Amino acid sequence: MAEPNLNGPILEVHDLKVTFRTENGSVPAVDGIDFAVAPGQTLAIVGESGSGKSVSSSAVMGLLPSNADVTGEVLLDGRELNGLPNDELRKIRGNDIAMVFQDALSALNPYYSVGWQVAEAYRLHHDVSKKVARSRAVEMLDKVGIPDAARRADSYPHEFSGGMRQRVVIAMALVNDPRVLIADEPTTALDVTVQAQIMRLLDDVQDEFGTALILISHDLGVVAEVADDVLVMYAGRAAERGTVRDLFFRAAHPYSLGLLGAMPRVDVPPKPRLTTIPGTPPTPGSITTGCPFQPRCAYTHLVGERCITERPELTPRPGEGDHEAACHLGRRPEVIL
Ligand code: SF4
Repeated sequence: MAEPNLNGPILEVHDLKVTFRTENGSVPAVDGIDFAVAPGQTLAIVGESGSGKSVSSSAVMGLLPSNADVTGEVLLDGRELNGLPNDELRKIRGNDIAMVFQDALSALNPYYSVGWQVAEAYRLHHDVSKKVARSRAVEMLDKVGIPDAARRADSYPHEFSGGMRQRVVIAMALVNDPRVLIADEPTTALDVTVQAQIMRLLDDVQDEFGTALILISHDLGVVAEVADDVLVMYAGRAAERGTVRDLFFRAAHPYSLGLLGAMPRVDVPPKPRLTTIPGTPPTPGSITTGCPFQPRCAYTHLVGERCITERPELTPRPGEGDHEAACHLGRRPEVIL
């Protein structure tokens, strides 16, 4: 885990909302979230699929389809990115902010060698010769742990294992020294040992380059390893926000507790069995009043009507610094994790 940087955030997102225009009307996917990340810091955005975490990161990158309406502020070093023309955004994408996706195969072109692809990513933002770009590509492939990088640069994606391909994608993302790296489920498609290697690699490059890392994940084990701060999302909204210790030792939102209850842990006494959260997440836009987690929540009876009639907003936890939860239950639910 990186030491949090005290020089202030490099990326700030305020009141981000994303709505998709569809044949069946407007469908809200993200409903007013805020987050920030500083150089050298890792923010994990956690939630089930459909929670809005990937849509949020694509909105930051300006990568949403044309039927998406995005409002709110996305500030990179104080510069507003939301609403920038595409050619301006292209200069920033891959250069100041880069992204690593889950599926390395679809991020790489099967017809070009990996070295060529990393070099081209460099040439997109630097006016250099092919020779200079190639040597930069080899340097990056070496840095991300591709053995014999000068020779393997001439290999094609299908000649690499899944873990090695993901290393190539990371080299491509880092080749321009981005200040912010967004990694969207970067290890989901990999086996456990390779997952650990890739996360260690991200941690190392972050230490070396001081990159701010936003990790999109549903895997709390990975989050516990690398994150400084955590944003838990549910149904397009923030359910809880705080440090990684806040989440793992003082979780206050029933949804966060449900996620933790479903995770095997070695730091607490063993439970007879892991728990699961009953039901499924709501379809976007289907819950317009009350708490979006209410249909699945085991604590509604402790609050009553308010859970159905009044939408809970993120509220600071007394005496817990910046730790916030969006739940009407003013105290931490009594649970055995
Ligand atoms: Fe559960 Fe009510 Fe809290 Fe929502 S506001 S998480 S329904 S207790």
